[in-house]
Amino acid sequence: MNYQELIESCYAFIKGIEPVGKVASYIPELSKTDPNMFGVHLLTTSNENFYLGYNEIDFSVQSIVKVLALTYALEIEQENVWKRVNMEPSGNPFNSVVQLEYECGVPRNPFINAGAIVICDILYSHLNNPAKDFLKFVKKLCQNNNISYNAKIAKSEKKHGYRNYALANFMKSFGNIKNDIDEVMDFYFLICSLELSCKDLANSFILFANSGKLLSGERIISKSKSKRINAIMQTCGFYDEAGLFSYRVGLPGKSGVGGGIIAVHPGLYSIAVWSPRLNDKGNSYLGLKFLEEFTTLSGASIF
Ligand code: GLU
Repeated sequence: MNYQELIESCYAFIKGIEPVGKVASYIPELSKTDPNMFGVHLLTTSNENFYLGYNEIDFSVQSIVKVLALTYALEIEQENVWKRVNMEPSGNPFNSVVQLEYECGVPRNPFINAGAIVICDILYSHLNNPAKDFLKFVKKLCQNNNISYNAKIAKSEKKHGYRNYALANFMKSFGNIKNDIDEVMDFYFLICSLELSCKDLANSFILFANSGKLLSGERIISKSKSKRINAIMQTCGFYDEAGLFSYRVGLPGKSGVGGGIIAVHPGLYSIAVWSPRLNDKGNSYLGLKFLEEFTTLSGASIF
């Protein structure tokens, strides 16, 4: 497969599409992102790299980090994690409050905000220095020591995080948040503010294409956990558009309101795309189009 040719064809394809959608503005600091940025990076399990555009520019990964947080929490608490968060698609927006009430404070899945806040609470209970330890974990996955949180973005989100605080308070009332809400939320906003490039993302998600191992051969999680996390990405990775992403792209993946999308073809590759304009469901408009074209042209499918 000539992946470089493929990504160039997909880029030519999306260049012909009218770029609609808006950069996320509910976190004011994020709205400063240039809407026309574009990057892609593909890493194969045989350690070949293919890229185009701004693949090494850092951007705010936002919800994509939730996959790495879940991975860490599963290593710590194993299957006990599922006593506090479910593994079902929500069919609701990422910040929806409504489901939590009739499901008694147990979020639908770890990738909507409520679920990720519970995961942060679990990590907060176990890690000595949550911010530092989590960053160290991600540095190891992406094999890059020069990554960091963006304190300005975290602060900006905290200032406007009314809904996320509502979710946390609601869950606390059901006993599903164990730590101090402000401390957990500061940790949540901080990890969402993590900045990675498409290259870093492809590196840090290659373990899900490689049965739980880094390309160095170092095992991070078991093969079974890797399969299971892929299953959750497949069913819950794109807010209330997970079905559409499965239908059109057909790969496990995760998006974030920073405009990034990571997708994984188990056994073959991880691919990260960044284009900040979001569709009305909060997914990167051109990122989705690019990946749809990519899996169509490549013809390789997990189904
Ligand atoms: N930090 C963002 C929030 O809580 C993440 C949203 C996202 O990327 O889906 O609203």
